Amino acid sequence: MGKDTRSAIGVDIGGTNVPASLVDSDGKIIKTINKKTPGDSKPEALIDTIKDSIDQLNEKLKKEFPGSRISGIGIGAPGALDLEKGTIITSPNLKNWKNVPIVDMLKAVSRFPIYMDNDANLAAIGEHWIGAGKGFNNIIMITLGTGVGGGIIINGHIYRGSHGTAGELGHITIVEDGEKCGCGNKGCLEAYASANYTVKRAIKGLKGKVRSTLRDINPKDLSAKDIFIHAKNGDKFSTHTLNESGRYLGIGIATLANIFDPDAIIIGGGFAEAGEFIIPSAISEAKVRSFKTIMEKLVICKAKLGNDAGIIGAARLALIE
Ligand SMILES: [Zn+2]
Repeated sequence: MGKDTRSAIGVDIGGTNVPASLVDSDGKIIKTINKKTPGDSKPEALIDTIKDSIDQLNEKLKKEFPGSRISGIGIGAPGALDLEKGTIITSPNLKNWKNVPIVDMLKAVSRFPIYMDNDANLAAIGEHWIGAGKGFNNIIMITLGTGVGGGIIINGHIYRGSHGTAGELGHITIVEDGEKCGCGNKGCLEAYASANYTVKRAIKGLKGKVRSTLRDINPKDLSAKDIFIHAKNGDKFSTHTLNESGRYLGIGIATLANIFDPDAIIIGGGFAEAGEFIIPSAISEAKVRSFKTIMEKLVICKAKLGNDAGIIGAARLALIE
């Protein structure tokens, strides 16, 4: 238990699982309950699941740390959220959901205050609190996963924009008339540097005459992890493909560096596991394209908290609000 007796629960609404963690005031995870996301995509079933986890974690706290209390519940969700109303407008993980008032629904079944933000913002808050961004005032977190998300922290606070949508770093244009992106635009950073699009680019490349051990894998089954493993094993095409994603990321980073002049740009998300093949190329590319005075002081590094960043950030949200 941290230096004060407050703790909070962070919940991460994912497509497969809904982990909920009890987190102390130092950001340490005391216990996690990992339940499956209810398959029938009914909001009520998900609310029951989350309530159940909250109750279990609260029991654990009361039993093992008498005198300590839960300050609130922080909820992280992917997709388009209305933070003012506390609704999930749409979410890629919860296909049939439209304008679900998740905060009000949870308030109706729980006596704790409920807070919500998108998963990328919460990852930024988590990394800023106790991860790679600790001690910095201004950081930008880029989450590389199936897509590319982002969170911007200015003067120690998350920047949400005028309508709660700021930080969509994956959808800045880096190639004019480039690859079509899921958002409807062409040439977005996500369409070049995300895990999904890196796989697509590799499959396209393999149609040419290149030599690669990736040819042993059925293109239908090829994953970003395969490309990473093959790069580690010395496959030049795999290395080149990841370096290329890094260079595109570097173009995005140069733009962000010039706009924000932050202390640090932190690269997280599942695809950052391949960071050793992505981040150095990103740094070289960003150096060429951005202001020298900014780049000299800018820290560009891998995130520290891994998959826990979002849940720790969600708990932090409930502790500081
Ligand atoms: Zn886009």
